[in-house]
Amino acid sequence: MAELGNPQNTIAVLQKYQFHFQKKFGQNFLIDPHVLEKIVEAAGITKQDFVLEIGPGIGTMTQYLCENARAVAAVEIDRNLIPILEDTLSSYENVILINEDILKVDIAALAQEQNGGHPIKVVANLPYYITTPIIMGLFESQVPIDSITVMVQKEVADRMQQGPGSKEYGALSLAVQYYARPEIVANVPPNCFMPRPNVGSAVIRLTRHEKPPVEAADEKLMFSIIRASFNQRRKTLANGLHNSGVIPLSKEQIEESIRELGYPVNIRGEALSLAEFAALSDILRRKITAL
Ligand code: SAM
Repeated sequence: MAELGNPQNTIAVLQKYQFHFQKKFGQNFLIDPHVLEKIVEAAGITKQDFVLEIGPGIGTMTQYLCENARAVAAVEIDRNLIPILEDTLSSYENVILINEDILKVDIAALAQEQNGGHPIKVVANLPYYITTPIIMGLFESQVPIDSITVMVQKEVADRMQQGPGSKEYGALSLAVQYYARPEIVANVPPNCFMPRPNVGSAVIRLTRHEKPPVEAADEKLMFSIIRASFNQRRKTLANGLHNSGVIPLSKEQIEESIRELGYPVNIRGEALSLAEFAALSDILRRKITAL
């Protein structure tokens, strides 16, 4: 039975082990059973699933995951939490604890070893200071993924979901939407955590596309173009791309490519959809290879 997800039990565990929160690790533990149930439900976990949990803390969500999944691997950087986790998870036989920085774990090897290379589910109340590298690392590496259901800063969840024309739209929106279908499943206020974060949070589910929704002949070039376009947000797309140095073409050739795409040369990057970035990347690539 899961038993940690309320303030009293969390305080009891913290006191028993005289645990001190470490700000540098983004430690804000969940203390609301409704939110915990909502995350596990949104992740659609079944007894067939192998789940990777990033940052189990004192094991609150891990208990819910162990109840619902076939197996769980929980990766925690803070070694002071390991004896606590060994205690709070002692009644579960389907959990592996790994004391490591998630950014250093070979997740593809773990998925191969624990799940025969079949797609895994990732569930986490993420440390907010490394949300983007964790999510992009999961997508860009060769890890077979079914879905990622995570608690993130509300503002970051909004950025992942937005399309052209909104002020939150940017390189993260495009990267996430290239790999997955994002869906915010809950907004979570600061009082659901201990200690309370200074920002609002949201649970977002990213369901991996079987195939990306657009095709670019050179995916790496497309992402370089996307990053360059949003690096200098107030500049036009042509200036942003020219100044970035990632496109070995003259300003005139870049402007000609933008016109070919069907836009005026003073358009900004934030007006382009993912499909248009893919098309622009193909046009630029053609001109680069013709050099
Ligand atoms: N899952 C717990 C919960 O919901 O109560 C804790 C969530 S807390 C927001 C983030 C957790 O991630 C902390 O336990 C923290 O120590 C851990 N963490 C921070 N950086 C990490 C990293 N690079 N690799 C693995 N775990 C990390």
